[in-house]
Amino acid sequence: MDKKEMIYLDNAATPRTLPQAVQAMLPWLSDNYGNASSIYRLGEESRKVISQARRQIADSLHGEPSEIYFTSGGTEADNWALIAGAEACAFKGKHIITSKIEHHGVLHTCEYLEKRGFQVTYVGVDGNGIVNLQELEAAIRPDTILISVMFANNEIGTLQPIGEIGKLARERGILFHTDAVQAYGHLPIDVEALSIDLLSASGHKLGGPKGIGFLYVKKGTKLGAFLHGGAQEQGKRAGTENVPAIAGLGAAVAHAFSDMEGQAGEGEGLRDYLIEKIEKEIPYCRLNGHREKRLPNNVNFSFQFIEGESLLIMLDMKGICASSGSACTSGALDPSHVLLAIGLPHEIAHGSLRLTLGVDNTKEEMDRTVQAIKEIVEKLRRMSPLYEDFVKGQGSPKAAS
Ligand code: PLP
Repeated sequence: MDKKEMIYLDNAATPRTLPQAVQAMLPWLSDNYGNASSIYRLGEESRKVISQARRQIADSLHGEPSEIYFTSGGTEADNWALIAGAEACAFKGKHIITSKIEHHGVLHTCEYLEKRGFQVTYVGVDGNGIVNLQELEAAIRPDTILISVMFANNEIGTLQPIGEIGKLARERGILFHTDAVQAYGHLPIDVEALSIDLLSASGHKLGGPKGIGFLYVKKGTKLGAFLHGGAQEQGKRAGTENVPAIAGLGAAVAHAFSDMEGQAGEGEGLRDYLIEKIEKEIPYCRLNGHREKRLPNNVNFSFQFIEGESLLIMLDMKGICASSGSACTSGALDPSHVLLAIGLPHEIAHGSLRLTLGVDNTKEEMDRTVQAIKEIVEKLRRMSPLYEDFVKGQGSPKAAS
């Protein structure tokens, strides 16, 4: 495929690796190959670049370098936070609270913990995907030991009231974890002000390399080791450090925080332009997620009377990379748990499309994208018996807006 012609709108899955991150990685992939645990100077250089990245990340969160632990990515950080967090507090109780719209890195880890004797309450969200605070507060029990709520949702972009949830947890001495994989590097986060104890992030979501991330662990939090072996990461996450990836992540963090407001502002402008244009030009569509409290790069729509998978394939044929809210599991096409949690009926959830913007996108690309979606949606609707019925006045539009 000619990449020059391609319109890439799946930046929440992964954006293009920043040239700064690639440059920062190169020396550590070639001449500077020393193991950071070695005594000699070649190893010392690796240690220095790791310390530098750790400091940059700590500063970006208003934390301290000793509170940052490198992992292989967001999934590992989520697993570590929940499993070790639950184990560390099991002497106090076995109840965990999370939300219905978490990433599977959290949801499947909670299911794993349920099989090991923990009880998990999955709190609901409103129609915009915001966690119901009253429901969350009411779910807290004397044996609640851990609350995990994501900072921003990866499908519909909705931002959660993290400060309020952190306060609720802190006042009751409950450990609070947030999966900030989609938010870190895109929005300012102050772990102290938001009463966050544990925070997961991933390098590739902000233009760093894949396979690197970190877990922030507030000083004083008793969290056991996740990988056992060497003394790396203060003896809590053994294994030779991925020095090139850590250097690349450091460069991506430096870039993201150098002009976060400017980058977010530009992103929001293009995001709102795309939302308005889709709403104006394509009938029977619904914006999913909160209109204002959403990630600066997220657009998610359901189009009535169509299949999201067909829309994706046809967009791909026109050189547009996007994603849907459906996940193909064990041969069956399940609608997204997030879209079901915000109250969409199955058939509407199936017709969903996520477009996530990046720094390279232009207004002209948004125009071409809307034109392409419009043509494809019209074509798919012409083939839909449901739409035919609806046009004949026999059906009723459930998600028309
Ligand atoms: N959590 C959220 C909210 C995500 O969006 C993702 C990835 O899409 C992950 C966790 C997993 O991160 P990683 O790919 O670094 O394992």
